[in-house]
Amino acid sequence: MKPVELITLQPGEMLYRQGDHNKDAYIVAAGDVVLFRTFGSERREYEIRGSGSVIGELSVLTDNPRSVNVQAKTHVQLIKVPASQINASYETTNPLLRTCIDTAISFTAQLTAMDAKPSHPPPRSTATLTNAADVIDKYQFEIDLLESIENGNFSMVYQPIVTLQSGQIVGFEALMRWNHPTRGFVPPDHFITAAEDMGVIETLTLFALEQSCETLTDIARHAPHQVPIFASINVSGHDVARPGFYTQMADILDAYNIAPSQIKLEVTETAIMPDNEDVLDNLMGLEALGCGLSIDDFGTGYSNLAHLKSIPMTALKIDRAFAGDAHSNPVSSGIVAMLVGLGAALEVDIVAEGVETDADVDALSDLGCSYAQGYFFYRPIDRDDLLTLIGNQNGLARPTNVA
Ligand code: C2E
Ligand code: CA
Ligand code: CA
Repeated sequence: MKPVELITLQPGEMLYRQGDHNKDAYIVAAGDVVLFRTFGSERREYEIRGSGSVIGELSVLTDNPRSVNVQAKTHVQLIKVPASQINASYETTNPLLRTCIDTAISFTAQLTAMDAKPSHPPPRSTATLTNAADVIDKYQFEIDLLESIENGNFSMVYQPIVTLQSGQIVGFEALMRWNHPTRGFVPPDHFITAAEDMGVIETLTLFALEQSCETLTDIARHAPHQVPIFASINVSGHDVARPGFYTQMADILDAYNIAPSQIKLEVTETAIMPDNEDVLDNLMGLEALGCGLSIDDFGTGYSNLAHLKSIPMTALKIDRAFAGDAHSNPVSSGIVAMLVGLGAALEVDIVAEGVETDADVDALSDLGCSYAQGYFFYRPIDRDDLLTLIGNQNGLARPTNVA
């Protein structure tokens, strides 16, 4: 951390002038400053700010020049807050707060414009009613989400993953559901993204992990004759970038007495971008632990093949955009064939997602895919149904379409 920079001004000395482009903010530590604007030869004073107030904070976040002059009224001491520091906090702040700041900036810019041309009619605010309604909706959504996290209004459903050849269940993907009393079904990609933005995804990820461990324990108890099946758990880029995530995983698996080889973590390509040491540490830690790593929605991001080669992944999940129409679209079938080849070269499993029809199954089998999941086989189901299904399977026949 850089040491705090203290600035001292004598009475009458200027801190900055209207039109200046310097961008730092300041906290008044002692004394008073006066904020004024000039109109020709006229000087119009707006405000005197004393100890504890902040000056110049808004222009840090815009490209606009300073809108006022700031002058020391007494002997003044100021603490400089570098623009870079404010910008970093702004980028990572709660989206709602960011919207409030943006609105304040745009409002201030309008007041300044009105001051400069007082005879003009007031400009129309950009903080429209739609914006306001959006902000309120978003705010309410965030409150509901936080409340639900506190009240435990989440549950997991499980979608079986099968071998394409026999239809035998070899694992399941754990998918989260939010059971809010008035909102009804909220798509998980919606609330997961919000939880990531709000910095509360960790709680949800750990919930998914613990629930999946309980499910694996129940399966082992309920269907001891089955070969151990695996749980595939979606984790966010925020999780894998969190220092020590893999030790958190190790502790949970230990607590539930689950073999790490029964756990696969699903991450998207963008979550494991190169050059982030915390991500690499976690991936290596998870590999050492013995967990699997599946690359989710493969084919939809901008794959960096050199990077893929260097990470310890164990499976590629082909996005349903390709798997779902490989039987009818030559481009999709070409892509699937290429991905199957890539999987063989990298010695990882290939799982096709979004398999909905008999034609999908045949096309994907012909293309050399080994594993699949999709409505053709099973929809996501609750724990009890999964236990029954696994308890009853003989693992030989392709199951009938239960979707
Ligand atoms: P995903 O990881 O790609 O999950 C697969 C999604 O495809 C699931 O949607 C699943 O219900 C749906 N699906 C499965 N088979 C078929 C099919 O044959 N046809 C069609 N049209 N869809 C199928 P869902 O449950 O709505 O989840 C959406 C996304 O939300 C997931 O996409 C994942 O990115 C995220 N998500 C869900 N649960 C979690 C979680 O616990 N943690 C995290 N971080 N993300 C989650
Ligand atoms: Ca997934
Ligand atoms: Ca997926």
